[in-house]
Amino acid sequence: MTTTAENIAPRGNGGGLKRAKEALSGRRALVVGLASTGLSAARFLKKCGAVVTATDSKPLKDIPAAGELNALGIEVKAGGHEGLENLGFDLVIVSPGVPHGLKLLCDLRDLGAEVISDVELAYRFIDAPVIAIAGTNGKTTTTTLLGEVLKDAGKKAFVGGNIGTPAVEFVEREMEADYCVLEISSFHLETTERFNPHVGVLLNITEDHLDRYRDFGHYAETKFRLFRNQTASDYAVVNVNDPVIASRVQKGLGKGRIIPFSVEGELKDGLSCNGAEIIFRCSEKEERYPVADIRLKGLHNIENVMAVIAAARVLGVGRDEILATLKRFEGLPHRMEFVMERNGVAYIDDSKGTNIGSLMMALRGLKGPVILIAGGVDKGGDYRVLSSLVKEKVALMVLIGEARFKIKEALGAVTGTVMAESLKEAVEVSEKNAKAGDTVLLCPACSSFDMFRNYKERGDKFKGFVRAL
Ligand code: ADP
Repeated sequence: MTTTAENIAPRGNGGGLKRAKEALSGRRALVVGLASTGLSAARFLKKCGAVVTATDSKPLKDIPAAGELNALGIEVKAGGHEGLENLGFDLVIVSPGVPHGLKLLCDLRDLGAEVISDVELAYRFIDAPVIAIAGTNGKTTTTTLLGEVLKDAGKKAFVGGNIGTPAVEFVEREMEADYCVLEISSFHLETTERFNPHVGVLLNITEDHLDRYRDFGHYAETKFRLFRNQTASDYAVVNVNDPVIASRVQKGLGKGRIIPFSVEGELKDGLSCNGAEIIFRCSEKEERYPVADIRLKGLHNIENVMAVIAAARVLGVGRDEILATLKRFEGLPHRMEFVMERNGVAYIDDSKGTNIGSLMMALRGLKGPVILIAGGVDKGGDYRVLSSLVKEKVALMVLIGEARFKIKEALGAVTGTVMAESLKEAVEVSEKNAKAGDTVLLCPACSSFDMFRNYKERGDKFKGFVRAL
């Protein structure tokens, strides 16, 4: 079995912050976007001696940290970016939420500035081997689980990036870790240059964020940038049951060693599942992981677990150690979270199901009949790909939010549809229509910002309404 922990050469000697100071001192840096990632980047750059300006399109009153940044000597330009292109910035850090086609960024690139994400910036000064998890769905679950497996096995792991602590804080706070496990979004990958994870995991690529990309091909290519700098000593853990990934693997992914996984079919090399066990075959050796021992439920989670097993084995964690974590890890809230059963009806909160791919997986994993609560802010995908699944499993769709008309137009012909004005009304309508044996599923396939602060608030409200029935 591949256990290469001992082969991983540290990329530095724990002097990440020192190197960052050497590289960044005196540079004229602009941070664009002042949510938590941008704030961390601004603080880090300042600590390293850069001359820092920070900007956000939001008005000053909506940037609570502006005072703190000013006190650190960081100029804050709120409410727009006018005039910033001519101030001689040579380094620009873009937050994940900021579109890369923004005129300011194009102008600065034309003027020769280096425009990168916080992850690319942090990577240059991280000494520990980086494990990066990417994909349309499953990133947070997989990143968190891998972090838990490593910690349970006695390794020091920093877990962050797109979740929790931004990657620059690892360098800024001089944290020590055996491994840096980073959740990476396609927005981060848009501006990678040197970023090269020792283990890159790509879980799936389905339609999402098409409001931000030219087309699906452009979105998919961004995800493959994860592997572009890999060398023969790195690993690419990839889901070959995903047709987009499988076809790219055929054409060549990069120089890293490929560890494929698939929930369908058998693989001579890589991870497959026969329903009862996950089987990991490598160099004519074989290891088995009983599915009954895995606390996470659902086919999509088998994929996530396979990715975790591959990455953890590469990093030298033993099978039994991995199994011990799999036996106890019960998953994260708002991801196919069982809320309660009432009158024989199960209620499930999948508020984090914010795109069509996650709804597809949610429906595939449920037996039916399902009463589906969906809708919110549309992301530009085509709901008709769900037609046959919805026809087979969904007894009734209860639609909310801005996207409800588009969803009804796409899928209304294949099952019953009701419109609701609020999530509360949607829960009540669902309860009235549900029979014993049904599942009421909140899986919006849309983002939440038309009615809620975020997916967490949407999920918490859903659980509250369900418990109050
Ligand atoms: P991400 O961080 O990529 O958004 P999460 O782990 O938060 O991923 O899960 C997001 C949504 O995707 C949830 O609805 C979850 O049930 C679903 N999901 C999780 N893993 C997968 C997977 N491997 N394939 C498809 N959907 C998944």
